[in-house]
Amino acid sequence: MMLGNGYASSPASRRRRGRPRGGGGSGYGFWQPQSLHHHQQQEISPVVPPCTEFDMAYFRAYSHIGVHEEMLKDRVRTETYRAAIMRYQHLISDKVVLDVGCGTGILAIFCAFAGARRVYAVDASEIAVQASEVVKENNLSDKVTVLLGRVEDVSIDEKVDVIVSEWMGYILLYESMLPSIIFARDKWLKPGGLILPSHASLYMAPVTHADRYRESIDFWRDVYGINMSAMLPLAKQCAFEEPCIETISGENVLTWPILVKEVDCYTVTIQELESVTAKFSFSSMLRAPLHGFAFWFDVVFNGPANYSSNHHLQPPLGSLVDQQSHGSSQSKKRIKSDEGIVLSTAPEDAPTHWQQTLLYLYDPIELQQDQKIEGSVTLSQSKENARFLNIHLEYSSGGRSFVKESVMR
Ligand code: SAH
Repeated sequence: MMLGNGYASSPASRRRRGRPRGGGGSGYGFWQPQSLHHHQQQEISPVVPPCTEFDMAYFRAYSHIGVHEEMLKDRVRTETYRAAIMRYQHLISDKVVLDVGCGTGILAIFCAFAGARRVYAVDASEIAVQASEVVKENNLSDKVTVLLGRVEDVSIDEKVDVIVSEWMGYILLYESMLPSIIFARDKWLKPGGLILPSHASLYMAPVTHADRYRESIDFWRDVYGINMSAMLPLAKQCAFEEPCIETISGENVLTWPILVKEVDCYTVTIQELESVTAKFSFSSMLRAPLHGFAFWFDVVFNGPANYSSNHHLQPPLGSLVDQQSHGSSQSKKRIKSDEGIVLSTAPEDAPTHWQQTLLYLYDPIELQQDQKIEGSVTLSQSKENARFLNIHLEYSSGGRSFVKESVMR
């Protein structure tokens, strides 16, 4: 998934589409899930969240081809999903699959190739109309049933053995699609069923990025020989008020990351995603200016809960291990066992369309080697629109403390 902050009226380079404005919060009486294929109703819904005006705008944004084109052209993303689906072919073959948010139908079709008996491909965006055509043209209509509707609203004829979904937004939680996967899991997944991906981890680390600061801020100090320092406060606000989606390299990162949130898709609850807080205590490995903090995530494709009954006792593959001796949540390295397939968006790994999410400070802090940076970060769903993310950052270093609030819209 890839919608960015302000998925509307946005610079083309940031791929934002259809920003929801005004209203919101109310359900839509007229809005009905539709089946694009033969299909009957049967399940009774538990608590179905209302489809708000914001949700409608969100789904509308996903009817633009560019969003899907960019996701499909992200080969790291798409090929990792394909590899994971083929890796679990033995659990997919002859089984029933639910693709939550099928988009163009790519993952549903991979599952059909892996031998699924039936794939329910659900999307609340009009892109489902095209997905249905794609399925037809590939002669898969007998296997893949495309449903236009929210996964919360559609009804399928049977429980499913597998849920596959590409739900991750920037900084993992932006867009807030994971609650829909949880809903689908609790309603449609058979006990012991497979969820792809199975785990997700969000990381955070302090970064130095002098080029970025020079380009956006120092530029104003001398513009064709004119001192435009008067522009500095505005430049800082405009450049750094909101989180930035950018690609950095491992060289920008000043320490090992901390784990902000680990999600086990088999057990995660909707409530625990409403607000996520992590404390940090970094110790800079370099003498360098601290320009901000970077966030990235990875997701792991592990087997179903009952295939590793002790999965809750062991760190899932791809999680941080080797907690450092100074007792903080800083970690040394990520284990990428060759048993688990990992889709990583880390700065040191091949770039993806998610890039990294950067929270820049208005003013850099000159760090000495081993200088501590302590504080906490809270990511919470915005009250105004649960798909927006409020980021509350508190940090202190060298005896000074700061707070930065931002909203990813
Ligand atoms: N699976 C596709 C698309 C991923 S993008 C691929 O991998 O390329 C996520 C998709 O999920 C979007 O098309 C969006 O419209 C859809 N989506 C998000 N929440 C949904 C929900 N609650 N019900 C149905 N579709 C949803």
